[in-house]
Amino acid sequence: MFSFILRKTVREGNILPLTSTCNLRCIFCSNSQNPPGVKAFSLPPLPFPLVQQLIALLDPRRKIIIGEAASRFTEGEPLTHPDFWTILSIIRSIYPKTTIQITTNGSLLNRTAIKRLSDMQPLELNLSLNSATPRGRWLLMGDRRANRVLEAADLMAEAGITYHGSIVAMPHLTGWQDLQLSCSFLQEHGATTVRIFLPGFTRLALPELRFDAEAMYHKLRQFLEEQAAVSKIPLLLEPFLWEDWQSLQARVAGVIPGSPAERAGIRRGDVIKSVNGRPVKSRVDAFKRVCKAVHPCLELEGREFPVSFWKEKHDGAGIVMNHDLEWEHVEKAGRVIRERRARSVLVLTSIWGLHWLQLVLPEWERGGARVHLAAVPNRFFGGSIASAGLLTTLDFRSTLRQIIEKRGDVFDLVLLPARAFDSGGRDLLGRHYSRLRGLTGGRVEIV
Ligand code: SF4
Repeated sequence: MFSFILRKTVREGNILPLTSTCNLRCIFCSNSQNPPGVKAFSLPPLPFPLVQQLIALLDPRRKIIIGEAASRFTEGEPLTHPDFWTILSIIRSIYPKTTIQITTNGSLLNRTAIKRLSDMQPLELNLSLNSATPRGRWLLMGDRRANRVLEAADLMAEAGITYHGSIVAMPHLTGWQDLQLSCSFLQEHGATTVRIFLPGFTRLALPELRFDAEAMYHKLRQFLEEQAAVSKIPLLLEPFLWEDWQSLQARVAGVIPGSPAERAGIRRGDVIKSVNGRPVKSRVDAFKRVCKAVHPCLELEGREFPVSFWKEKHDGAGIVMNHDLEWEHVEKAGRVIRERRARSVLVLTSIWGLHWLQLVLPEWERGGARVHLAAVPNRFFGGSIASAGLLTTLDFRSTLRQIIEKRGDVFDLVLLPARAFDSGGRDLLGRHYSRLRGLTGGRVEIV
């Protein structure tokens, strides 16, 4: 079973899980906040022969990802794997041209490690910096040797290694100045982009880790806007939550210096109307279309002439967009509604997803169906969690019951977000979504 899930993870996401072991102890690490019952696996360093078998399953046409939490496996620091360098060499010899993406906390990156990485190009590092001050690294991550990661950033820049910096923002603990310094450090020491994350906490989080998530989000948004306006590199706040002034307009959040998009004259704030003559539906849709194209021709709002440039298929263009809606999921939901000939449809989504989906209701109601949209609170994880990926069948059940009791409605079709389930239809508690069928007279499907 375990080996089956591992293989599936590699095939589906092109993610190579190596270990859940970590040499640091971040106070925001999701590994320590999961309520009991969550079926998450903590991996010891995988034996070398097993890793070799998994390497053979990787797809050389897609980026190979190492060090990210995948499926049910919890995250860890990949460089703690005793065979990390041998594994990397094997991947490189089998797939010489594929980009390898490694997510690391940077604490094990010394001069020798960076030299070895530069010999393994093309690769991309996601550096979880979180703070550029010794006090901040210690407070947030338990890292007593912050200087090592700071030096590593410079060495990577010198060696021409592309790296993206990330910061889990906890200014209520470290102070806003620490956040400002950390953000500036990445901008000035070679990062290609900076992502700032609003941390989440579950109902099990210690009191000192809790904060007013909504107020924090607005402050971070303002902080980011001010920083991004003067930054040479793209800065992003994640998650990108809906606000009253927003729409699905494909507004460019930033452009990587020296990229094809920058050379073609695309700038932060430009709005992409169409790619190769086809109108775009959302930011994510625009991003994916540009990524797939070899010679994208972009129509930009307010520009008299289209902008075009050359790039290889699936190579980045250097355009950075915030994440709004995966348009293929919207289309799939519309298709399911039409194919099932449903007249009364209930779409359950997360609190974060509700406003975005309201914008696409007319798309789903085109065929005459009456579509009711409802947000499901993440009661199981609790705390500040409000995302679809952490919803469970218990949460769906409780909201579904309330809606049916209140409205007295029986829906022909209930749609659930696929993000909450694995490819076998099971949630994080290992429960299958079909358990919800008894509550409603109609079908229940995931899209
Ligand atoms: S570096 Fe990543 S895996 Fe390690 S403790 Fe921090 S969040 Fe968890």
